[in-house]
Amino acid sequence: MNRRRSLKLIAAATAVPFMRCTTREKLPFPITMNGANAAIGHALRDGMLPAPSATTERSVVIVGAGIAGLSAARALAKAGLTDFILLDLESGPGGNSRAGSCRQGDFPLGAHYLPLPDPADTDLMDLMRECGACVGEDENGIPIYRDDYLCSHPQERLFHQGAWRSGVRPRAGLTAEEAAQFARFDAHVARCAQARDARGKWVFTVPMADMSQAVDVADRLDLDDITFAEWLDREGLTCAPLRWYLDYCCLDDYGADAGLVSAFAGLHYFASRRGVAANAEHGDLLTWPDGNGFLVKALNRHAEGRMHGGQLVHAVRLTGGNVAVDVYDVVQQRSHRFLADQVIMAVPRFIAGRLLGPLADGRDVQPHYAPWVVVNLALDAYPEERGGEPMAWDNVIHRSRGLGYVNSSHQVLDRVRGPIITHYRALATNDPAAARRAASERSAEDWVTDALDELRVLHPDIDERIVEGSVALWGHGMVIPVPGEISGEDRRRSAEPIEDRIHFAHSDLSGISIFEEAFHHGNRAAREVLEQLKSG
Ligand SMILES: Cc1cc2nc3c(=O)[nH]c(=O)nc-3n(C[C@H](O)[C@H](O)[C@H](O)COP(=O)(O)OP(=O)(O)OC[C@H]3O[C@@H](n4cnc5c(N)ncnc54)[C@H](O)[C@@H]3O)c2cc1C
Repeated sequence: MNRRRSLKLIAAATAVPFMRCTTREKLPFPITMNGANAAIGHALRDGMLPAPSATTERSVVIVGAGIAGLSAARALAKAGLTDFILLDLESGPGGNSRAGSCRQGDFPLGAHYLPLPDPADTDLMDLMRECGACVGEDENGIPIYRDDYLCSHPQERLFHQGAWRSGVRPRAGLTAEEAAQFARFDAHVARCAQARDARGKWVFTVPMADMSQAVDVADRLDLDDITFAEWLDREGLTCAPLRWYLDYCCLDDYGADAGLVSAFAGLHYFASRRGVAANAEHGDLLTWPDGNGFLVKALNRHAEGRMHGGQLVHAVRLTGGNVAVDVYDVVQQRSHRFLADQVIMAVPRFIAGRLLGPLADGRDVQPHYAPWVVVNLALDAYPEERGGEPMAWDNVIHRSRGLGYVNSSHQVLDRVRGPIITHYRALATNDPAAARRAASERSAEDWVTDALDELRVLHPDIDERIVEGSVALWGHGMVIPVPGEISGEDRRRSAEPIEDRIHFAHSDLSGISIFEEAFHHGNRAAREVLEQLKSG
């Protein structure tokens, strides 16, 4: 973290408490704890791992089987390479896009959806066809998606002023001035969505690698130097309903509110999407009962037999024209060395720096990460409602601590069984490290009790309906695009290969944590590797 940014964050710190402490309740249903395996991760930090006792050679080793690592594996396999291995410290693939399951079905432990892809993203469209999401094109070449993968209606509702209302924007009781501020904000977004540089490159687009790098555009927009909140103040967009809505959107996508993320990131959320479908509307999305776990399974088909879980990589070094990757096998409790021609580091930047040791050379500058907690509750029937709009896919509560819940059974047509609901909370504060420490001291029951505090207001009989619970805590859930993160040198530097042998792939490298960015970096790193293997 550079000093300017660090000071800015500390200066922004307020006395907002990290979280209200709830009395621990004894809950009458089983709860499983999922999420990142902090105990194994800490073994890496504490450096107490044994030296390797055996060595195996491999052409390519991929470290980390999140979306980026899996995407790299898929690209290598599709190019005909078979001599690669994919290692992850967790028992299964997927990183924070993994899914969990219970007797009632599957549910997401983290990532839940993919916005409609931009047809210009040819790699992503190839995956969409391969996994059966895109089933054809209309006569104008516009993609057609499988109906049951497109989020069905109603998509969103907001609990506001005592009733459920359609959409997430607060609309009830807006004054003329407030409505005018929403309209002015929309006009800004429309302009940003059309902004291109002299060569026709978009200023806001996904993946970030395709966006304009033109300095004149960056200077003109001057948006990555200030927070979104500062920019909104400057534009006179200050009314409470708009600011609540924009804070909610930033928390939802970045795990931090408009006071922390850059103005560039805040506008990017609204102005970067160009997905279309012949059978859906602009802004629609793809989702599955197991969330992006569906995409994990699709990618992992290419890594079958080559993905190994329970493998904590603890050192990566250059040695005699190869790369040595030291791995601790969590079950066998011993270390092994892989000697590889090429390595892809598909792990977060803060871990990559640690694994590389002296090789890191500036890559150990850590971005800020937002911690998240995700609580899944399986219900035996649809719960009682408080009036207004019926249950939607996304159910948001105005001015609540959490981000509301997603009905993970929304795409399941048979409503005989109760739903599995997925409650999201970004543990947003101005001090993510303190939030992470405090979060690690809480029990699974504490987190479920917190979620229930919110849910009981919406569904008075929810306690009687719950049959099973699951908690996933993601200490380093998402990189936060604070001012300077996207335009800064650290991010670009972190993606540079080392001696054309060690390559980097992770959503962190974009400064924005979304599926498309992780997928892009996995594909890009695989291309770098294939190029080296061809020329070597
Ligand atoms: C709660 C939550 C909700 C989200 N919702 C969405 C959503 O709906 N849509 C969306 O597009 N994005 C969402 N995201 C963002 C999500 O992070 C990305 O979509 C994507 O999953 C990131 O993939 P990745 O490969 O870059 O990283 P990661 O998921 O971080 O993968 C890194 C992998 O490396 C492994 N690893 C780390 N250290 C080591 C080591 N030393 N040895 C071996 N393995 C190691 C980890 O176990 C992990 O599997 C969400 C994130 C969170 C936290």
